Amino acid sequence: MSSPTASPQSDVDTANGTEHGFFGQVNQMFDAAAEHTDHQSGVLHQIRACDNIIRFEFPIKRDDDSIQVIRAYRAEHSHHKKPTKGGLRYAPNVNVDEVMALSALMSYKCAIVDVPFGGAKGGVCIDARNYSQDELERITRRFTFEMARKDFIGPGTDVPAPDYGTGEREMSWIMDTMHQIGDDDLNSLACVTGKPVGQGGVRGRTEATGKGVFYGIREACQYEKDMNRLGLDVGLEDKDVVVQGLGNVGYHAARFLQDEGHANIVGIAEIEGAIYDPDGLDVDDVVAHRQETDSILDFPGAENIETSAKALELPCDILIPAALEGVITADNAPDIQASIIGEAANGPVTSEADAILTEKNVLLIPDVYLNAGGVTVSYFEWLRNLSHVRHGRMSRRFEEQNAERILRAVDELTDQDFNEQLLDDLITRIGFGASERDLVNSGLEDTMTFAYNEIRENREEHGVDMRTAAFISAIDKIAKSYNQMGIFP
Ligand code: GLU
Repeated sequence: MSSPTASPQSDVDTANGTEHGFFGQVNQMFDAAAEHTDHQSGVLHQIRACDNIIRFEFPIKRDDDSIQVIRAYRAEHSHHKKPTKGGLRYAPNVNVDEVMALSALMSYKCAIVDVPFGGAKGGVCIDARNYSQDELERITRRFTFEMARKDFIGPGTDVPAPDYGTGEREMSWIMDTMHQIGDDDLNSLACVTGKPVGQGGVRGRTEATGKGVFYGIREACQYEKDMNRLGLDVGLEDKDVVVQGLGNVGYHAARFLQDEGHANIVGIAEIEGAIYDPDGLDVDDVVAHRQETDSILDFPGAENIETSAKALELPCDILIPAALEGVITADNAPDIQASIIGEAANGPVTSEADAILTEKNVLLIPDVYLNAGGVTVSYFEWLRNLSHVRHGRMSRRFEEQNAERILRAVDELTDQDFNEQLLDDLITRIGFGASERDLVNSGLEDTMTFAYNEIRENREEHGVDMRTAAFISAIDKIAKSYNQMGIFP
């Protein structure tokens, strides 16, 4: 048992937020888990340190011909595996502490779900809503150029992906810029993930984080011991759910919970406020209403809740903060009514709030596990780009023909005497080879289920909460890779 901060050679950099702020919070969680491992303090210190951080300041021309200097960051937290991997966000309050914290979460997240990357995160300090499409394109291309010049991007170096305020469009600008600046590396498509399918993206990436959130919560609700403790029925069906944030993650998580899990979405919160209907809201109808009226408020049959923050305190079984970090704090944690909190966003619960919620017996499914679906499917996209072939292309027809061969063999060997019509029907029903989307979804489901069970075993072995158990899993796996590299004896 050793604490990384106790290292006598420690060069802990408090000025860079190592002990304070968001990165400090992540490190507190790390330290709590490290107490349950027996790695030496130097190893722990190396795991939690943020390896590289770069700040850019670059000019862009606005549409009115004025010049604006844009600030941006990229943090590469850990190089125990390469490339480093993590999203790129566009938000006005991006800062060094935030990208360091988020890059650390990426390292732990990748380790937890066995995705062989180190963690990274980048951010551009802009409110994307205040810029035209042309301006955003200029910003993204210039940022990519700066990253390339400083060796902060490349298929084997550091691979960005969508995050808050960015999506497929920005990722394809990044890829195109990398091509234009003369990178004729055969693998250059793999320099960024979350690209549109026609440009090297993989089917299923857009909904991956939300779908992973669904699989993770479904898994948690299957665990009888926890459900009994919370006084809830096993399974997702009819559980009341409140979702904060109707962006890519929140929307898909809510839709899968509703359509596949048959849960009841009773509350949805967005920047402009929230709506609540104990009888249930149809997620797609709410999205259509918001598109039509520019607001989720005044949705037919639902009650308006004045602020997005107030929605966190609504009565429900499962609360899913799917927007930004730090929304559940020591101030509102005592008023949370949910029995389960699924952290779809990165860092939505502060460590003070975490302690209060744990005390209240709330089951907290941590971000480092729950929102790992995005990077898991990014990994599948990266593999697709490196192998230069669509997943399933070589096997789909073979699988179809195999299904037919098996059916005909069963018919012959067991004297079933299937008639041709019945055989055709059976082949149509079960004889389809797996498409790329099928393979991606099954890989994602398997990854989320397997990781949940590893975390559950850690919880039981060490008698800790789920976040600490997830961090223990990450620390053990990262320490193991350093040991395998022979870096530490
Ligand atoms: N931005 C996402 C995250 O925070 C995805 C990262 C990735 O795909 O690399 O997990």
